[in-house]
Formats: sequence, C-alpha cells, structure tokens
Amino acid sequence: MENNSEMHQWLNDLKVSHPLVIAGPCSAETEEQVLDIARQLKDSDVTIYRAGVWKPRTRPGGFEGVGAIGLEWLQKAKAETGLLMAVEVANANHVKLALEHDIDVLWIGARTTVNPFAVQEIADALQGTDKIVLVKNPVNPDLALWLGGLERIYNAGIRKLGVVHRGFSTYEKTKYRNIPEWQIPIELQDRFPDLPIICDPSHITGKRDMIQQVSQQALDLNFDGLMIETHCNPDKAWSDAAQQVTPERLKQILGNLVIRKQTN
Ligand code: PEP
Ligand code: MN
Repeated sequence: MENNSEMHQWLNDLKVSHPLVIAGPCSAETEEQVLDIARQLKDSDVTIYRAGVWKPRTRPGGFEGVGAIGLEWLQKAKAETGLLMAVEVANANHVKLALEHDIDVLWIGARTTVNPFAVQEIADALQGTDKIVLVKNPVNPDLALWLGGLERIYNAGIRKLGVVHRGFSTYEKTKYRNIPEWQIPIELQDRFPDLPIICDPSHITGKRDMIQQVSQQALDLNFDGLMIETHCNPDKAWSDAAQQVTPERLKQILGNLVIRKQTN
C-alpha cells in the first residue's frame, strides 16, 4: 500500500471542522438508550455516531451485544438526527448485515485486527462497496499487523479508509487501560500522511477523567479525529462503564480542546 491522497478525500468531503468527532455508547443497549444519546449529540460537533451491536468480550459471561436488532435502532437514530452511523464488524456476516441496514462507517476492532483470516473475510465482504472503513490497532503493539489489516481492506478496493489508535495491551500496571505507545501511530502517520488517524481516548485510558488530557495529546500530534464513548448514564452502561462520559461532558471536553490545526 502506497500513501494515497484518495484516502483523505472522504474526510474532506464530510466538510466537518477539525477534529472529526465520533461519539456514542460502547454498546447499543435498548432502542431508547440509542435514541436518547443520539438526540443529545445531534446539535454538537459530533459527525459520526458509534455503537457496538456485536461486542467482542475478553471473557465469556458478559454482555455480548444486542445483535442485528441494534442496527435497526441505528437506522432510526440516523433518520431522526442525520448523524452518520458506525458499528464494529468482526466477520463477513456482520458486514452483510451492516450493509443491509445502510450503516455508513464500519470499524474493525482491536481483537479482530490481530486475525488476518477474519480481516480478509471482512475485506472480501466489503469488495465493491464505498463505505468508510476504520481499522483499529491490534491489541498488541505490532505496527506490521495493523498495516497488514489496512492493506487487506485497501486491496479490496476500499479507499475511504482510516485508522483508530486505541492503545495496546500490557501486563504492567499503568495508569492506562491500554498504553498509548504514541511512537507507533506516529510512524504510521509518517508513512501515510494522507491516511486519516483517529484517537480513541476511551479505550486508551479506561477512565473518564483522563479523556480530556489524552484527547489533547492526540490533537497536539496532529490526529484528525477523536472517538469518545458517550452514554446518558455512564455508570449504568452494560459495557465499559468507567470510561464513558455524558453528552454534556463530551461537549465540555470538546470545548476545552486547544485546536492548532484548522482544517481536516
Ligand atoms: C469498542 O470500540 O467498544 C471496542 C470494543 O474497542 P476495541 O476494539 O478498541 O477494544
Ligand atoms: Mn468499548
């Protein structure tokens, strides 16, 4: 894969002010929850609404997502608010269902990027579509694996591409849930300056009170966007409760950001 100015075009075409903001709950829980959050994000700097409907949980027994019904709730949220909709896809069937429900942005999660067979299956299912596809970094700090995932999607003809930096697993006790290892996304930026790069401070920090600071760091490193988990009642969220913020807090966080680069 070569650096390609086409990769940035979708971001220019969205004509959003810098940074691009993706927000919404970790998981779609109920129709009401999906719609409530979307309504509160409607008149804000948020352009893309995120919600997982298939949740890859590290261990079994937790909430594994509401499944395809959640895609219908997202369709309703889109019709009502005009926000673009994003979901995580982890296999070809997820892609098929997301396409059937007119989801605008598909992202590949950290636990899927580690698996070339799964990414290839997703890439094959995406062939011929013009969706925006975001590839999260793999859970482990392996730039080649991240790039490999991207290349599989690129080779399927997808040009509306982006990457999401969500930090990396470590056995060490640190203040982060997933350590940022900023040098890895920076190397990716150096090699592919036209590839939109989005920071996910929610999964990096695991704690809502660190999101402001990590978001600012990402902007200072010229990231193009932020993906921030947002929930009307974060403490009651069915997944990732400690890191979600309310829509009101999200607006404060965005308002506090010092933005040096003017356009995307
Ligand atoms: C998520 O975005 O909710 C998620 C599961 O993220 P990750 O793949 O980064 O762990
Ligand atoms: Mn999450």
